[in-house]
Amino acid sequence: MSAPNPTPAGGPLVEGPFDPEHDPRAAYALEPEYVESLTKHVLSTSGETKPVESPLNGAPLAHIPQSSDDDVAKAFARARRAQAAWARTSLDERSAIMLRLHDLVLDRQDEIIDLIVLESGKARKHAFDEPLHIALTARYYARTAHEHLDTQRKLGVVPGLTRVEVNRIPKGVVGIISPWNYPFTMALCDGLPALMAGNAVVTKPDAQTMLTALLAVQLLAEAGFPEDLWQVVAGPGSRVGTRIVEQADYVCFTGSTATGKLIARGCAERLIGCSLELGGKNPLLVLRDADLEKAAEGAVRASFSNAGQLCVSMERMFVADQVYDRFVERFVARTQAMTLGATLAWGNDMGSLISQDQLDTVVAHVEDAVAKGAKVLAGGNARPDLGPYFFEPTILEGVTPDMTCFGEETFGPVVSLYRFHDEADAVARANAGEYGLNASIYSQDGARARAIARYIKCGTVNINEAFGATFASIDSPMGGMRESGMGRRQGSEGILRYTESQSVATQRLIRFAPMLGMSDERYAKVMTANLRLMKKLGRA
Ligand code: NAD
Repeated sequence: MSAPNPTPAGGPLVEGPFDPEHDPRAAYALEPEYVESLTKHVLSTSGETKPVESPLNGAPLAHIPQSSDDDVAKAFARARRAQAAWARTSLDERSAIMLRLHDLVLDRQDEIIDLIVLESGKARKHAFDEPLHIALTARYYARTAHEHLDTQRKLGVVPGLTRVEVNRIPKGVVGIISPWNYPFTMALCDGLPALMAGNAVVTKPDAQTMLTALLAVQLLAEAGFPEDLWQVVAGPGSRVGTRIVEQADYVCFTGSTATGKLIARGCAERLIGCSLELGGKNPLLVLRDADLEKAAEGAVRASFSNAGQLCVSMERMFVADQVYDRFVERFVARTQAMTLGATLAWGNDMGSLISQDQLDTVVAHVEDAVAKGAKVLAGGNARPDLGPYFFEPTILEGVTPDMTCFGEETFGPVVSLYRFHDEADAVARANAGEYGLNASIYSQDGARARAIARYIKCGTVNINEAFGATFASIDSPMGGMRESGMGRRQGSEGILRYTESQSVATQRLIRFAPMLGMSDERYAKVMTANLRLMKKLGRA
């Protein structure tokens, strides 16, 4: 497969800084045949299209066909037909396809990463995290499918005479609504366990990053997943997303807390389940015994990966008084040394924000904080010289509760530093607010850090790492407490959410009623004696 762009895979998109006077946009258009090979995967008969541009330099990338309400209904009908056949395939067949996908994603990573960078504007090294995460997810669910999905024997009420089994029945068609920030990861990571559990998927990726999501569909087909099992629809979330919620058997949503609440209401109305992976205002704690070099290096990745447009990104850092100055000096120096750029090539530490909306939010949060007295220790400026939506990695000090960025998610490269005197206070401040997604603790005493983690109200806590340790450990569940979400992706929770449990009990010899002329009173006495005996025997 050729690279999607006329420049060689990994080659520079813009030679040097962005130059609005000599706009290089036309030179970087995607090949029309390549675009066509991807957009054909959208179910659309409306004749309408929506343009997508690269945030790197505003270059037009493609026109994405839009789906009508009828198209969404058609997508569900096709998915239902495909699911009926898919549910009869064996776990081993499904695993084999999943492992082929694993290999394809690794083999085609240059193409995947090029498209991610073009569509999202992120640095290449941050784009690499996406195929990496999908390969991990595909391998994990392929290798653990039997563990999660095989019929399991359970304790029967009468030992030896009541045989109980629990089956895992696929929900049917899962609706997936995903955001733009990790377009390849978010396109696939929740859908793979849904397929493994015997479901079909109808998905609506975010409008800004459809091409990457469509490349993911192309790879699913090439790996051998049956035609029609995975449907893609496109259009505004408020319309197409709502149609999905109205027709799916389960909804997996990733996005903002505000939209997540709307989805939850829609699902409640139909009494269907949903999982919600939402926003965060994630805290990082540097304890007094932390390795400060390690903490400063981790803090850069924690706050500035994908320019902070990452649900598990750190926007608040609580640093022990004893090491505050030494940590800050290291963190600021590392941040100021970061290289920013709009290229497809490796080598940049941070890329662009995705859109004017994101840039506006970041600028507003920083301007508000500075106007109210916060101090900028690093960054603080937009960088139109690099690209239309660039903003420097920014460290703030002296942020107070009256400033927007104190409690609201910025979803950009802006982090606030706070001192703490005692750890209980740091934990209380980390727990303040409504979110509870991800936290990080730096300390050389792993046992103490793990003990502190239990008091932090976040769904994931990384010790001596930013977010990668939990996020890439697919065997462990990932998701938010409080307003950061409901349900979990990854691990057994990440696949069992797409199944209904069905208990099947086979009763032999005795029945649950008086037998052999026994009176009701006698039956009650015999059963009571049985209960006492079972307890004595230590039975659950
Ligand atoms: P968003 O809620 O605006 O959009 C997310 C998706 O929902 C998009 O596909 C959008 O089209 C769709 N949508 C919008 N309105 C809808 C509606 N009324 N009904 C149905 N669908 C609708 O979020 P965003 O701003 O694009 O994404 C950023 C947010 O996502 C941040 O808050 C971030 O923290 C969160 N996020 C969370 C995770 C996680 O795993 N917890 C991962 C990535 C992003």
